[in-house]
Amino acid sequence: MPARIVEVREGVLKKNDLLARELRERFAEAGLAVVNLVSSPGSGKTALLERTLAGLAGRLRAGALVGDLATDNDARRLAASGAPVRQITTGTVCHLDAEMVGRALAGWNLTELDLLFIENVGNLVCPSSYDLGETLRAVLFSVTEGEDKPLKYPTIYNSADLAVITKIDLAEAVGFDRAAAREAVDRVRPGLEILETSARTGEGMDAWIERLAGLAGREVRHPAAGRATA
Ligand code: MG
Ligand code: ZN
Repeated sequence: MPARIVEVREGVLKKNDLLARELRERFAEAGLAVVNLVSSPGSGKTALLERTLAGLAGRLRAGALVGDLATDNDARRLAASGAPVRQITTGTVCHLDAEMVGRALAGWNLTELDLLFIENVGNLVCPSSYDLGETLRAVLFSVTEGEDKPLKYPTIYNSADLAVITKIDLAEAVGFDRAAAREAVDRVRPGLEILETSARTGEGMDAWIERLAGLAGREVRHPAAGRATA
């Protein structure tokens, strides 16, 4: 690659890192935990978020920023939960960067939230290089994608804190090899925590929600499940 292009890219990333650091400070001051959801298109980020926001309602105050190249369909879908949601439409840009997140947060009183989800643009490549100031980066891996996905896109797995297998209700129908998928994750990122979820049946949602509540430093109340909490 010509030196000039490398220089420009490094400049862009350096600027992003500075802005991400400012965001991280701002989130910390507001007592806000931020989750960056990354995956290929169609892995079920919006469906997982929809179910998550519904599950968190009345327990934690959660909001979402949704990135897409075009349309505000996902934001409208998520807003039905009653949670505050904003759309970032990137046009031709295939990832979110810290500047876009900062701009989208303008005028939003972050102290009113415990958790903010950022649904990144569906893309397993460049979102790995853009820090958004998040507390946790979760990479989604749907059972319809092929067990070797982590081997093909190791960088995103290396930048993630958690892998969430989605659409687990379809595992049998599509012949998903759970052991092979887990082994692929473990090969690129030994020890990475893996959760299995289904936004359709609710399987695994409790564990995911507990994980999020821990992040926000809050006890989750389970009024619906009737579970006793101290
Ligand atoms: Mg979506
Ligand atoms: Zn991109």
